Amino acid sequence: MRLLCHCTICQAFNRQPYADVTAFWAGSITLRVGHQIEFKRYRPPPAARRGHCRSCSAPVVEFLRLAPFVQLAFVPSKLFPDQGALPPPALHIFYHRRLGDIADDLPKVSGYWASELAVMKRVLASIADA
Ligand SMILES: [Zn+2]
Repeated sequence: MRLLCHCTICQAFNRQPYADVTAFWAGSITLRVGHQIEFKRYRPPPAARRGHCRSCSAPVVEFLRLAPFVQLAFVPSKLFPDQGALPPPALHIFYHRRLGDIADDLPKVSGYWASELAVMKRVLASIADA
């Protein structure tokens, strides 16, 4: 699932109006031994660990616990060499924090809990489909 997040943390972390990230199950992401990613904890949004590159400080991965057994990893979409392999963006979240209106046909979810819920619903749907 690919998300466009307008929350203020994403804005600061990515130094962009919003973050374009692709979500994975946290367990499917393996960090290499000796990786050069530095993690910081943020809260809220819910317990998140955001990792950026030690040398260029670009965002690399974010681990987010949505529920006790649901942990996701978000990777900036632009980091993937094969952009064609990514799903199209599914929706905008934290749209109430937007720096400017976005002209596209994607759903735009405003509000903290509504945004969390929108992601959670899609996560649950993907479990049901599996
Ligand atoms: Zn965000």
